[in-house]
Amino acid sequence: MNNIIELYRGDITKLNVDAIVNAANNSLLGGGGVDGAIHRAAGEELLEECRLLNGCATGDAKVTKGYNLPAKYVIHTVGPIWSGREDDALFLQSCYRKSLDLAVEINAKSIAFPNISTGVYRFPKTDAADIAIETVYQFLNQNNFIKKVIFAVFDDENYQIYIEKIKKL
Ligand code: ADP
Repeated sequence: MNNIIELYRGDITKLNVDAIVNAANNSLLGGGGVDGAIHRAAGEELLEECRLLNGCATGDAKVTKGYNLPAKYVIHTVGPIWSGREDDALFLQSCYRKSLDLAVEINAKSIAFPNISTGVYRFPKTDAADIAIETVYQFLNQNNFIKKVIFAVFDDENYQIYIEKIKKL
């Protein structure tokens, strides 16, 4: 498992993988944080394709092409805005799970995730990392199609959290 899961520190838009995951909002029409970075790097055509998708429910995922990105596809998923309720975790788990299912559908063998919901959506970072790693790990145990899963970590706090957790896998 250790050679499938990788930790990368930096900008997810630089990654040359089959699919990068976007922590989008329900409109899928762009936003701040990682969403803004992905739209800037992919170019206007990404927004044009997103306009055709009619938004996305929280916990769900939809795919577009990657346009000017090195990645072939962008999987847009909408994480929960943290509320402190129990279903926050279920929605976050669903984002990772549905993104992986979609990756298999589009034949993507390598995928990179940002730390969904841990920015302006305020999901506690340690809990979010547990959910992310556990969901990916479970998926990889049941499915051997995907050969590389990269956790693209941008901020210091998430980096420290992920380093510790990945070591223990
Ligand atoms: P959300 O609304 O889901 O919380 P944000 O984009 O605000 O989404 O934050 C999600 C995570 O993305 C944060 O941990 C933030 O540090 C990270 N992030 C911001 N820019 C980038 C980037 N260019 N590449 C990878 N991660 C990024």
